Amino acid sequence: MRRANAFLAKEHRLLIDGNWAAAASGKTFEVKNPSNGAVISSVAEGSTMDVDRAAKAARRAFDSGPWSRMAPSERARLMRRLAELIEVNAQELAIIETMDNGKPFKMTLAENVRSAAEKFDYYSGWATKLRGETMEVSHNTHAFTLREAIGVAGLIIPWNVPLQSAAGKLAPALAAGCTAVLKPAEQTPLSALRLGELVLEAGFPEGVINIVTGFGHDAGAAIVDHPSIDKISFTGSTATGKKIICAATGTLKRVTLELGGKSPVIVFPDADVEQAVSGTATGVFRNSGQVCAAGTRLFVHRKVYDEVLEGVIERAKALKVGPGLEPGVDMGPLISDVQHAKVLGYVGAGLRDGASAAVGGNSIEGPGYFVEPTILTGTTENMSVRREEIFGPILCAVSFDEEDLDGIAAQANDTTYGLSARIYTRDISTALKMSRKVKAGSVRVNGGGIDINVPFGGYKQSGWGREGGLEGIENFTELKSVIVKL
Ligand code: ADP
Repeated sequence: MRRANAFLAKEHRLLIDGNWAAAASGKTFEVKNPSNGAVISSVAEGSTMDVDRAAKAARRAFDSGPWSRMAPSERARLMRRLAELIEVNAQELAIIETMDNGKPFKMTLAENVRSAAEKFDYYSGWATKLRGETMEVSHNTHAFTLREAIGVAGLIIPWNVPLQSAAGKLAPALAAGCTAVLKPAEQTPLSALRLGELVLEAGFPEGVINIVTGFGHDAGAAIVDHPSIDKISFTGSTATGKKIICAATGTLKRVTLELGGKSPVIVFPDADVEQAVSGTATGVFRNSGQVCAAGTRLFVHRKVYDEVLEGVIERAKALKVGPGLEPGVDMGPLISDVQHAKVLGYVGAGLRDGASAAVGGNSIEGPGYFVEPTILTGTTENMSVRREEIFGPILCAVSFDEEDLDGIAAQANDTTYGLSARIYTRDISTALKMSRKVKAGSVRVNGGGIDINVPFGGYKQSGWGREGGLEGIENFTELKSVIVKL
């Protein structure tokens, strides 16, 4: 706690070309703890000029080396060193993250910080394993492909899993041989800045990793516009993703987008009810529902509907909601007053339009931005609470009678999103048939979890491209064909 407090009290600057620099404008902005609304730190407000310096530093580190000229094994060694430093400083990072984001300390420590370290560790392994291929063309031609780093990567991340997102984008970019300009979300810039200190401690060369804190419309937009940046990897809302696509047409940058979701959970009558209940509750209430892949639309077969609904209601009631640093807390606040008002707005609209709250539905008194874990019944397809991504602990529960899988899939697919789906059934055939019918980038059967070795991304308006696994690193490469006349 002492070390985290000392970090928060520092003057937080931008990491540009291996040095900490104030924003060119001299401006700073405040960072709040969403558990109580208190200002906990202030950070530099980077904007166009700072992004320009960062992008040029990253460009130099890529074009003139050393990063792009370093042996992949050497890059991998530095990445592993960073993973170790994250582990060594896990307690401090977890406290910073919990104070900045509000989520329970047990989650930041056991899941988010560990996952950040794992990402550098995992992708360090890929650095040495990228390869091209040879092609048969004709007897007097030799043709082959080179898998080359794309160049400078602009990495724009959201506030729901800040450190994990920073690592999730930096790790594959670095392993591919790219240099980077990272922009954390304005709500949660702190863990990325502590990561920046660890980057320097690990010994990464100057300019390889640059971190510009600031606002989306300013620093974020400048990254998307910058001609020295070759690729944007963005995670955030679908609305912002669309803006980024439009802005990127100026330079025709490569763009990977991991966007919103309104993911279905489908429970068949033969499911292990306990497993379905537990998976559904975790899937929607974890991180206060501020998860792109949260399962927010629950479809349960009539035969087990009451049992499943009762079970999830019990889980919701049992959750201890409170400040993330308080012992035993299961669910923290929402990230901001804006998000708090937005979530309650959706619930209010649903209730006004005829839905009922089986549990929750209200704000929780306090200085922080808390809402009750909420389950709504009686929603219809046209209600905004049922259609739009809410990013809060709000579940819409619906029963179905159909035995026909196409009918069930039609309901599950009745959304503009397609990020994730959960299926609960003991019948392997039903599980596999349904997995094919659901339009989602990830289908989790009977509680299967996301793993870094498995591609993750969206169908439809949930995004472009995949993160994780081999696809995750290939997104930071270009494929060059070389054809030699012999
Ligand atoms: P939210 O609306 O929940 O804050 P966003 O998707 O807007 O989510 O934010 C995710 C990230 O995108 C943040 O780092 C934010 O600063 C950034 N961002 C927002 N608007 C833009 C933009 N127009 N261009 C680039 N980045 C942006």
